[in-house]
Amino acid sequence: MHSLPRYAQCMVRFTVLASGSKGNSTVVTGGRTRILLDAGLSCRELFRRMKLAGEDPETLDAIIVTHEHSDHVSGLAVTARKLGIPVYFTEGTHRAWMRWLTPRRQMTYAQWLEQCRRQAAERQAEADAAQIDPACDPDEADLLAEEAAPEIPADPQADQTDAPTGVPSRKEDPTWLPSVEYFQAGQPFEIGDIAISPFTIPHDAADPVGFVFRAEGVRLASATDLGYIPPNVKAQLQAVDLLLLESNHDLEMLRDGPYPWSVKQRVLSRVGHLSNEAAADFLENSYDGQAAYIILAHLSESNNLPELARVTAERALNGRASLLANRLLLAEQNEPLSPIYF
Ligand SMILES: [Zn+2]
Ligand SMILES: [Zn+2]
Repeated sequence: MHSLPRYAQCMVRFTVLASGSKGNSTVVTGGRTRILLDAGLSCRELFRRMKLAGEDPETLDAIIVTHEHSDHVSGLAVTARKLGIPVYFTEGTHRAWMRWLTPRRQMTYAQWLEQCRRQAAERQAEADAAQIDPACDPDEADLLAEEAAPEIPADPQADQTDAPTGVPSRKEDPTWLPSVEYFQAGQPFEIGDIAISPFTIPHDAADPVGFVFRAEGVRLASATDLGYIPPNVKAQLQAVDLLLLESNHDLEMLRDGPYPWSVKQRVLSRVGHLSNEAAADFLENSYDGQAAYIILAHLSESNNLPELARVTAERALNGRASLLANRLLLAEQNEPLSPIYF
């Protein structure tokens, strides 16, 4: 008796595994392709949540990264290595991510080059023996988002010039990935059955992006970690079937809350995070109302309450009768949402 291969059925599916300042990750499925959108939890926790939500980690085809803050990449290297799948970055995000993972000590350019040569030689030496360790080590990529990048006069090309390609060297090179693919904001591309339109967002990272994913005629948009919604982003968030939108903080709670003033300023800035009020303003005044699902995301645990975010968005949606068909969900920090099918 023949049974259909697993996942052979055509479908589009969106599964939020985690959302918030302690980690962000979503599985986007279109046709036979599955993409992990950000890997901001340890590999072990990502796999645990995927299984909880009915997603099979082994079937992931690629990881795609919005920006280099640790709540979006903390499990990136371990997960990509364990699954042996490519990671899609903008070049700016990849470079910033590599700088974070590079040992934090000052060195001259000559010393940096020497280190690169030494690492390349070591990679060559272990080329035959090297295998990807299947163990997940959640501590391996335990980064701090807000730490400044080290001042190393690195020529990012130097690392790659001498390095034998395709040779794992996990121990010596924390930035090693099975495969790296670059994309650019504003230039659509495809991964398998999923067409992807990356767009620039205003945020304090090297080259942050949001995405519209399209598969089988269904459009799924993700826009978190943005200080405000500029016209180019507003344009991207139209005619989508699902909208994952940041609703980070309540303005009053943030102002009266526990953060130091400098951090409050950062969150509130044009390259910080989107408030409940700003998300609601977009929904009420600039949004076309076509999504079947709106998921409020990246809620702050210190400066927001789920009910506050929900009520603020509902009020905005209720202000326009045409938006009542939109189903409103809240992404969670500590547990996955049920998969949304199209
Ligand atoms: Zn974030
Ligand atoms: Zn961020």
